[in-house]
Amino acid sequence: MQRTKTGWIAVFLLAALVAVVFVLWKPKGGWQPQTATDPLTQTAGKSWTPPAPLQSARAMKYLEQLCAIGSRTTGTPGMVQQQQLLQAHFEKLGGRIVWQSFQHRHPQTGQPVEVKNLIVQWHPDRTERVVLCSHYDTRPFPDRDPKNRTGLFVGANDGASSTAALMELGHAMADKSIKIGVDFVLFDAEELVFADQKGDYFIGSTYFAQQYVADPPAYHYRSGILMDMIGDKDLQLYYDKASFTYAPQLAREVWDIARGLGLKEFSPRVVHDIRDDHLPLNEIARIPTIDIIDFDYPTAASRTRSYWHTMADSPDKCSGDSLTKVLAVVLEWLKRQTP
Ligand SMILES: [Zn+2]
Repeated sequence: MQRTKTGWIAVFLLAALVAVVFVLWKPKGGWQPQTATDPLTQTAGKSWTPPAPLQSARAMKYLEQLCAIGSRTTGTPGMVQQQQLLQAHFEKLGGRIVWQSFQHRHPQTGQPVEVKNLIVQWHPDRTERVVLCSHYDTRPFPDRDPKNRTGLFVGANDGASSTAALMELGHAMADKSIKIGVDFVLFDAEELVFADQKGDYFIGSTYFAQQYVADPPAYHYRSGILMDMIGDKDLQLYYDKASFTYAPQLAREVWDIARGLGLKEFSPRVVHDIRDDHLPLNEIARIPTIDIIDFDYPTAASRTRSYWHTMADSPDKCSGDSLTKVLAVVLEWLKRQTP
């Protein structure tokens, strides 16, 4: 294909016109350099202000505080230190503390190890209640670490993020618009699992669910929301299969609230089939419970570089905004619960 001489003149004039328009139409603040953006992270850079009284910086400070303890594996001094920290924190905010303790056979030593679920009750007089839960133990070792599988595992995202989120949510529990009874349940021994998968998962949550059935309390748990791995800077939250099977209405309700708040991190699609603490709650206790979990970190495209169960699961991978984005949704959901 060729162009005629007049054709070239027309092209030249058009180009000149475009250049003039380009120079005159200059947005305030000048031109910003354009960087390539991962479509998954497009909302991450936008500024986010959580609804009061939630604070991203404070939530992040809690996450760092927990990680500073070091390993918080079931039955270790680090776990005891964490238990003291959490008890003092929630009592100060007006929560009623209930410890649910029992013995479990340690997968390595064969000796009994004490497992302790922490229940924080808000308005314990209310008989119609919901459960907001997280595991607060850390895996004993970073057994997917490419270099050191017996190094220190602090579980910034896997363990600390959802625990810190509940610490932050404690500040909102005096809100008069919450009419339902709320129990925060921090499960111990979610993954007392050593190398070669030696050990058990969901020990604390299974016991909690069994007790609810064997020794029914005077109150009723209407539904539950489990949070796990919600701290990643690049937050991506999908429905997991079990949540959608056991509590489809609740899952839709929560993701609809997120959409209403403009939080694109919540995608209403079933992506993962995740085994987590919500299974015993659904299957044993029959409490319809969903799991808000980000299993794709750092991104869906780089699962092979995932820091899951490695020494790289450290606070620098996490963001206070991710925590308060999830909490904003949970808080709004709580306010919509009528007893
Ligand atoms: Zn884990």
